[in-house]
Amino acid sequence: MSTLLISHPAFANHLVPPGHPERPERMRAVEEALGAEAFQPLVREEAPLVEAEVAALAHPRAFVEALESVRPREGMVRIDGDTTMSPGTWEALLRALGAATHGVDEVVAGRHKNAFCAMRPPGHHAEAQVAMGFCFFNFAVVAAKHAQKKHGLEKVAIVDFDVHHGNGTQALVWSDPSVFYASTHQMPLFPGTGARSETGVGNVVNCPMRAGDGGQKFHEAFEQSILPSLKTFSPDLIVISAGFDAHERDPLGGLELKAEDYAWMTRALLDVAEQHSGGRVVSVLEGGYDLKGLGDSTAAHVRALMGS
Ligand code: ZN
Repeated sequence: MSTLLISHPAFANHLVPPGHPERPERMRAVEEALGAEAFQPLVREEAPLVEAEVAALAHPRAFVEALESVRPREGMVRIDGDTTMSPGTWEALLRALGAATHGVDEVVAGRHKNAFCAMRPPGHHAEAQVAMGFCFFNFAVVAAKHAQKKHGLEKVAIVDFDVHHGNGTQALVWSDPSVFYASTHQMPLFPGTGARSETGVGNVVNCPMRAGDGGQKFHEAFEQSILPSLKTFSPDLIVISAGFDAHERDPLGGLELKAEDYAWMTRALLDVAEQHSGGRVVSVLEGGYDLKGLGDSTAAHVRALMGS
């Protein structure tokens, strides 16, 4: 079976102020990296446009409607210090919701062994009623809830290796024993959450790393903490919050990961998925702000998803 790649040109139409790291060029870097010969076996599909209602899987309707009501016809609207909406943002958000849920639909139906959603903006900082840190809707949580509500899966795990802690994801699943959340991230760093002592109802595993930590500490976090907990949880589906800003080239993070660290970790997650989750994995792009680091890391991650 194949790996599904879901994307759409609209993801480049979410514009940001000059100098902002979460920029449209990120999509081009990912596209170029996945344009190489080795990725020909990927099945490529466009992210469908879905109703904003889909976001209500993770957010109150009033919050979804409030965001829709402030979208600008021209120029930009500032939502928080580093999160802005442009005229193209709303369609990007709807298609990102579409990508995440379509990926789940296809993988759960068994039409593809796994899926990677090449999309922006990222989502893991978005809390129930707070857009922040470049994020508006929490696509990983939407994917997990969609798998449960539409497909009847019982337990979903979200594994997040973005250099920043997914405060939004953690907050949204904090008291929900049917969703497991594990994160490696740099600490201290934005947003400030993610201490080892933050464990939800036993469903949250945080593995903070220090600036300068590299592949070895990353492997240890997975081998000693995340993978054993994930196996114990035994999810029906693994959703990956795939942020590549822990790469050594990244300007926002201070961890020293290399592209092959992402390949190793992806293979480790696939192994768990094979044993416990019928192989089902859906990965959604989060951060990654050095274009070469992002391209190389995405290529390593997707090659591993493809099983090569
Ligand atoms: Zn990040």
